[in-house]
Amino acid sequence: MSIEIENVNKRFGDFVAVDNVSLSLPDGQLTALLGPSGSGKTTLLRIIAGLENPDSGRIRFHGEDTTDVHVSDRGVGFVFQHYALFKHMSVFDNVAYGLTVKPRRIRPDKAEIKRRVMKLLELVQLDWTAHRLPSQLSGGQRQRIALARALAVEPKVLLLDEPFGALDAKVRAELRRWLRRLHDEIHVTSVFVTHDQEEALEVSDRVVVMNHGKVEQEGTPEEVYDHPANPFVYKFLGNVNLFHARVENGHARIGDLTLPAPEHGDARSGKGYAYVRPHEIEILAEQDASGALPATIELVSIVGPSVRLELRIENGDDLVHAELPKARFRELGLAQGGQTWIKPLTSRVFLDGETLPSAGV
Ligand code: ATP
Repeated sequence: MSIEIENVNKRFGDFVAVDNVSLSLPDGQLTALLGPSGSGKTTLLRIIAGLENPDSGRIRFHGEDTTDVHVSDRGVGFVFQHYALFKHMSVFDNVAYGLTVKPRRIRPDKAEIKRRVMKLLELVQLDWTAHRLPSQLSGGQRQRIALARALAVEPKVLLLDEPFGALDAKVRAELRRWLRRLHDEIHVTSVFVTHDQEEALEVSDRVVVMNHGKVEQEGTPEEVYDHPANPFVYKFLGNVNLFHARVENGHARIGDLTLPAPEHGDARSGKGYAYVRPHEIEILAEQDASGALPATIELVSIVGPSVRLELRIENGDDLVHAELPKARFRELGLAQGGQTWIKPLTSRVFLDGETLPSAGV
């Protein structure tokens, strides 16, 4: 079931929560709506669900206009951040609920409900909890039951609003891998809201990056991470260093270093910024012919298998953050307070007018 969102607008008083959004969400895919707090993700999800009416614009499910169709008739399943399980009902009864309240003529019989519920509990790998109460489950298990319950009515579309938001980091990471595998099995068109970049990049087939009610960029996780459309997306998707640069003839100059900037051909020149991710900074033990920038190592942090460095380049206002494998760090013989040389392996250059005001990681 594909979802078409066409010129959707929503205001709350004077505040524009969704600003003329048009999107096409492909059938069977898992799409993440990613953005900072207040960017309009939940409002858009609620409009897709039918829990909120847009001021203007249309929503279509598989070509059929559902804008004025009531939430209960849209065939959507929900999972919210806070487990909305019925506390006094067993896990089995929670999952069965949506089936037992169906009108008699379309309600499956008891044996069929049992078969479906147990199949779903097996799918979320919690069949052994059928007779427990929700209070006897962990947070992560409750969210898996919430998902089984949402899937029980065989929704055409599954909507998840920060489904793992209330869980601790480790459980969250496990559950998102689990959700990815589950989605590969069931292929129901799904949209999930998150403000966590890593979660969106790891779990989804497509990522829609939102800011101030607008779509900044949409694409596969690789597209948006490797080719951010603008400085906002660059910064939002991970740590990034900004180097002041002089852009001319398709190149950017930072001190004695020249970087290719093919996106700015002959006609475009002026002040700009080179955006470079920490793992894209090459660290050299000595100066080479390329004009690498001399830098002092101000801080070394060893984080598991990687080493993070904070470096200061000559005349640089901001610290430069770099990340490298621990083995490489040892090989280079680096130490806090020492001198090194750095150069960006890849970068994306934006001219001054295209950049955001704040700098640094
Ligand atoms: P978060 O991650 O914090 O939930 P979000 O991107 O999902 O953020 P929304 O929940 O869609 O953002 O909210 C967008 C803006 O609209 C926010 O500034 C919010 O305060 C406002 N808003 C949302 N619902 C209402 C409402 N019912 N009445 C008034 N303002 C609202």
